[in-house]
Amino acid sequence: MALLSKTAALTAPRTFSVIDRAIPALAPDHVVLRIAATAVCHTDLGIYKGQYANLKYPVVMGHESTGVVESAGEKVTHVKAGDPVIINPIISCGHCDMCQREMQNLCRNAGLFGREVDGSLAELVHVAGKYAHPLPADLALDDATIIETLATVKHAQDRLGVKAGDSVVVIGQGTTGLLHTQLAALAGANPVIAVSRTKWKLDMAMRMGAHHALDVSAEKSLSEVMRLTGNQGADVVIDTAGGAATLAVAIEMLKPGGRLSPYAVSHECCATFTTFPLYYKEISIIGSRALHPTDMAPSIDLVSQGKIDIKGFVSGTFPLSKTDQAFKEYEGNSNGVLRLVIDSREG
Ligand SMILES: [Zn+2]
Ligand SMILES: [Zn+2]
Repeated sequence: MALLSKTAALTAPRTFSVIDRAIPALAPDHVVLRIAATAVCHTDLGIYKGQYANLKYPVVMGHESTGVVESAGEKVTHVKAGDPVIINPIISCGHCDMCQREMQNLCRNAGLFGREVDGSLAELVHVAGKYAHPLPADLALDDATIIETLATVKHAQDRLGVKAGDSVVVIGQGTTGLLHTQLAALAGANPVIAVSRTKWKLDMAMRMGAHHALDVSAEKSLSEVMRLTGNQGADVVIDTAGGAATLAVAIEMLKPGGRLSPYAVSHECCATFTTFPLYYKEISIIGSRALHPTDMAPSIDLVSQGKIDIKGFVSGTFPLSKTDQAFKEYEGNSNGVLRLVIDSREG
């Protein structure tokens, strides 16, 4: 008898239907996971509102997901039934030129678990074992969902080469901004300057290692950044707010030789952008996409060793059957919460 899994399926924009779905028979290289928690992020909000062009309904969202292995196929050796795990949601094809070069996050046929592939807003999922990364037993599975986001942040900072002594500006202090602030401080960057218009997020940034908190818009932070860096400018600017206006000011606040991460995804055109500052100040703009499979284990270690604090990111928890309420709350107050968690263990 096929296993049935209660699943919150998005059948149209802003419309959920909670249904029972059959889980496929266990494939030899797959695992069936009993989902514990799924964090909802801005990507999910975009899917919920129907902002992705090629969505095929029903969509089962959920890509920041933890759970426990229910059963493991015979070829899966790194986890076994009963092990807590977190999912790497970046699904890669394994045969394109990028995958052949071990650059799975840039796979030509990539999909996101929870968008192109059915995700974790369900009781059970059937997924290739390689996407399940073991977690230490003492981590709370709702908080641990943040490790997926941490892995994307770590991926970006590794590409930027953030190191001790760098002056780092982090624009925006949502979940990704706060994690960037913490990770830069952990690397020994000094000063780490957090920029946000939201007081409680700045308070959190200071607790998480920022040396300065600027309660101004990105555009207005330029003079303070210059003052705090002795008029030299910053070595690194990480823009988690995104958009055309922040790009221009981010380039302006960099010192010669500086590095910029346009971390937030934006489709906005930047009408005033010219390449001149890239030439004159020899600025590097360093893109980063999602996470690489090898970012997962070190990110889990950072949390389990207490080097990165993931407490305080989850502002509310909803049972799977109330997924629609969770999304309504998130859409109505997306600046007031960092992450909402949907708990698949509570019906
Ligand atoms: Zn996400
Ligand atoms: Zn590929």
